[in-house]
Amino acid sequence: MSRATSVDNDALLRQHGLHVTAQRLAVLRAVSDRPHSTAEDIYNVVRAEIGAISHQAVYDALAALTDKGLFRRIQPAGSSARYENRVGDNHHHLVCRTCSRMVDIDCAVGDTPCLTASDDSGYEIDEAEVTYWGRCPDCVAATSISSGG
Ligand SMILES: [Zn+2]
Ligand SMILES: [Zn+2]
Repeated sequence: MSRATSVDNDALLRQHGLHVTAQRLAVLRAVSDRPHSTAEDIYNVVRAEIGAISHQAVYDALAALTDKGLFRRIQPAGSSARYENRVGDNHHHLVCRTCSRMVDIDCAVGDTPCLTASDDSGYEIDEAEVTYWGRCPDCVAATSISSGG
């Protein structure tokens, strides 16, 4: 999925009614390159790429892009908010308790079955937020090495 040239990103911003700025383009690129980054991570990437930018400018760009539906904001319990550009498919996340690494995980069966609640109490449901917690393979391996014996 590497169709994101800078021309596409220009068009993407305009389609969503956003002015094209160097900051927004850089933020868009940073998030598509490393999904599930925190605002701080994105700030560091963008600053390395385009030089002077304030934290506030990065937060503003993230808020505008999230607001327009270009980014999804995920905030697992006890973690900073993360941003990704994979939106609209109701996918879930798997989070490592040890190193906080987050990966995408599709719905367990078929197409968004978790939107079909067994009892919706009359609500019109449009999103199911599921976070799986555990330990990533690296952290499992590190533990078995250090405690190995
Ligand atoms: Zn881990
Ligand atoms: Zn994701």
